[in-house]
Amino acid sequence: MRLANVDGRAVLVTEEGAGADVATASDGRFGPDPQAVLADWAAFTEWAATAAPAADVRFTTEQLGPPVPRPPQVFAIGINYREHADEAGYPPDSAPVTFTKFPTCLTGPDAVVALPTDTVDWEVELVVVIGREARAVTREAAWDHVAGLTIGQDLSERTAQLEGGRPQFSLAKSHEGFGPTGPYLVTPDEVPDPDDLAISCRLGDESLQSSRTSRMIYDVPELLVRLSAVCALLPGDLIFTGTPSGIGNARTPKRFLRAGDVLVSEIEGLGSIRTRFRD
Ligand code: ZN
Repeated sequence: MRLANVDGRAVLVTEEGAGADVATASDGRFGPDPQAVLADWAAFTEWAATAAPAADVRFTTEQLGPPVPRPPQVFAIGINYREHADEAGYPPDSAPVTFTKFPTCLTGPDAVVALPTDTVDWEVELVVVIGREARAVTREAAWDHVAGLTIGQDLSERTAQLEGGRPQFSLAKSHEGFGPTGPYLVTPDEVPDPDDLAISCRLGDESLQSSRTSRMIYDVPELLVRLSAVCALLPGDLIFTGTPSGIGNARTPKRFLRAGDVLVSEIEGLGSIRTRFRD
């Protein structure tokens, strides 16, 4: 199943650019708010599997908002790919490095983002959407608590992130528009292997990052185990699972996003998102 946020309404995607409005098709039982659908995910997926509603909505990518617009919590993981740990100069830690992106930074899959400084960097990431409350889950049960997957960019303002005696990950990664996500929430059964997906981003024809999610140090089940041992994970929460190598801050010379840049981020089976930048 692919679920889109079209102008703030949950839409079951049937083909590219078309789908069924969830509130209309379910006679108001689910939706229209895409976030509300996640609060009743098990019942919703059961309904969606049998209802198979006909497409009654056509949409363009400009109409798409973040598939999960108001998550109760957003977890983000740093240093979760070996090559990225090397380039960032951090030895992998004994626990996942965890911070938050404040939820107001979330935006859709075809966003225009204002650059607050000239040191804004890219980080393509697999984003996990929680579908069922998780407390102290086991590895074996972890995927059962996942509603779906989407593509995310953990845009990062490196100056504020790294200056001072202690890193300021959360704030420096939460400027307006710094959390592009989408294009859809895709259920794990739609992808070939949810633990091993090609992940990349590029500017024009130039590849910036290219890896596979199987190269994570802490894979998706392990992240759910570690996080849910501390916090309850709630339906509609997001987990940004970390970025592979190839960030601009680790290049010689360093390289950052500029007004006019068009960043395309892609994950196998999930589609792609496009982020445009302006001053
Ligand atoms: Zn990141």
